[in-house]
Amino acid sequence: SYDEYYVKSVIRTLPDWPEPGVMFRDITPLFKDPKALRMISDAFIQRYMDSEMTHIACIDARGFLIASIMAYQLQKPLVLVRKKGKLPGKTVHQEYQLEYGTSAVEMQVDSVSAGDKVLVFDDLIATGGTILAACTLIKTLGANVIECAALIDLPDLQGSTRIQDTGIPVYTLLAYE
Ligand code: IMP
Repeated sequence: SYDEYYVKSVIRTLPDWPEPGVMFRDITPLFKDPKALRMISDAFIQRYMDSEMTHIACIDARGFLIASIMAYQLQKPLVLVRKKGKLPGKTVHQEYQLEYGTSAVEMQVDSVSAGDKVLVFDDLIATGGTILAACTLIKTLGANVIECAALIDLPDLQGSTRIQDTGIPVYTLLAYE
C-alpha cells in the first residue's frame, strides 16, 4: 500500500539546479525503484478507477511516464501535450509565462473533442503555468478538464491554488514546502 514516507525517501533534492536558488525535486530515482513506482502508479489508478474521466492528457516529458501506466491499467486513451515543435500534423499551441521569458505547449487538433472529460497529468506543479496552458488547449479543442493531477505540489509557489481558482480541481500525492 501507499507509503508517503517511503516515496519521499526515493525522491532526490538537488540544490541550485538548474540555477542558483532552485531546489530541484528529481523524480528520476522513482523509475529505478519498482516498489516506489508501483505505489505511486497504484495511488493514481485508485483515484481515477471509478471516475467519469474519458481521456488522460499528459505533459512533456516526465508526465508521460506515470500517465502511460495509468492509461494502460485504466484502459483510457492517452494524449500528449508537448513542448513546441515536437508534434507532427495540425496542432494548436498556447504560450505561457516563465520566470524569465515564455514557453509554449502544443496538442494535435484531433487529440480530444467536444464532450471529452479530460484528466491533465504532469509530474510536478510549481507556478501552475504549464498545466494551465494545457487546460487552455483542451478547452480550445472543445473538451472539458475534469481534474489536474501531479505527483508533487510546491504549495509555496501557489500553482495549485491558481489552477483551482479557475474552477478546476487539483489532486497531488506529495507536497514540498
Ligand atoms: P510550472 O509550469 O511553473 O508549474 O512548472 C511545472 C513544470 O516544470 C513541470 O512540467 C515540471 O516538470 C517542471 N518543474 C519545475 N520545477 C521542477 C522540479 O523541482 N522538479 C521537477 N520538475 C520541475
